[in-house]
Amino acid sequence: MLRRTRVGIADVEAIDLDKKQVRIRHHDLPQAFEFKYDHLVLALGAVTNFYHTPGLEEHALCMKTLGDAILVRNRIIDALELADNQLNEAERQKTLTVVVAGGGFAGIETAGAVNDLLRGSLRFYRHLNKDMLRVIVVHSGEVILPELSESLGRYAQKKLGQRCVEIRLKTKVTGFDGNEVVLSDGTRIATRMLIWTAGTTPSAVLSGLPCASQRGRIVADECLRVPGRSGVWALGDCALVPDGLNQGKFHPPTAQHAVRQASTLASNIVADLRGQPPVPFKFKMLGMLATIGRRRGVAQILGFRFSGLFAWWLWRGIYLSKLPGLQKKVRVMLDWTLDLLFSKDIVQIPTLRSLTMSDAEASSAPRIEPKT
Ligand SMILES: Cc1cc2nc3c(=O)[nH]c(=O)nc-3n(C[C@H](O)[C@H](O)[C@H](O)COP(=O)(O)OP(=O)(O)OC[C@H]3O[C@@H](n4cnc5c(N)ncnc54)[C@H](O)[C@@H]3O)c2cc1C
Repeated sequence: MLRRTRVGIADVEAIDLDKKQVRIRHHDLPQAFEFKYDHLVLALGAVTNFYHTPGLEEHALCMKTLGDAILVRNRIIDALELADNQLNEAERQKTLTVVVAGGGFAGIETAGAVNDLLRGSLRFYRHLNKDMLRVIVVHSGEVILPELSESLGRYAQKKLGQRCVEIRLKTKVTGFDGNEVVLSDGTRIATRMLIWTAGTTPSAVLSGLPCASQRGRIVADECLRVPGRSGVWALGDCALVPDGLNQGKFHPPTAQHAVRQASTLASNIVADLRGQPPVPFKFKMLGMLATIGRRRGVAQILGFRFSGLFAWWLWRGIYLSKLPGLQKKVRVMLDWTLDLLFSKDIVQIPTLRSLTMSDAEASSAPRIEPKT
């Protein structure tokens, strides 16, 4: 995709805006590399923020990357396997309870998908039944999906409720020790799984930069330039870009905005190199879509609101169209079609290296003699 571009897969460790220099390091190499830039685009996105909530750093799962999603899926399948052999009812209940912190898009889509995976897999576990499963969403606001209208949020609440997802509103998670989630109203929920979707913050690499920021997001102007720093630009989740069409407001951190900001920013760099003036980024959000599980969705597009199967189908169609390249589109389309025809695939995808042994250890290991 990146023709005429040299790509380096590495971590940005430090940025020196005065020297116009960036230091990067590949995790497998001992030494770091430094290079100079003429133009620098800050597009480091955001990372999960636990806001120092006790126990979350050690025990909570996140939902930010594909790796996070695979880990959650593995843990759900693991929980079903474990619970199927647990005789102690309280322990089994703890294993089969999943708490999702955050009732925004990420939290609700996660809760819907986790609930579908648990319920759709039950038939493979003889000793489990649907009454043993608990999926709980903890949300600080009065209605879930605050990004959408209140009526769509309430519709999503109703539909999730019909699928037995419990929703706790005006409540926050205040702690988790790996065995129990504590809520702001004093409730304690016995569980081994808390999925945290209730906060993000821009990358720590940006926090030391000598330029204006708000809650870690680099303040940019309408043309995506970082004021006072020539040749430095910012976009996406790590940038605060004023919304020219809504005075005093900023563009929200969504992919919809980030990809469009990217093309405006690229044109502005070209314009700068040619000595031409940059253009401001102007974009009115087309709409919002979310899935809530069991082939149901909620959508608000160009002022129209709808929900149900059509919203879910639209969600799939739009995201399919956004995937880069025909090959990727076909692969995902086939996978989704198979998903419609067959039951849930509950094969775990372990990401750890398997156990190994060297020859010498094998020969020196104690032998177990057969009994005669
Ligand atoms: C679960 C979930 C669902 C979402 N659903 C939607 C949706 O339906 N629609 C929508 O519009 N938006 C959605 N979003 C938001 C959307 O993903 C973001 O707004 C968008 O990805 C922001 O793009 P970005 O380029 O700013 O950051 P990112 O896409 O996060 O990209 C930042 C990149 O920088 C890399 N990076 C970070 N630090 C370093 C470093 N130090 N060195 C090198 N590389 C680094 C990261 O690995 C990453 O690849 C969703 C987000 C989540 C978490």
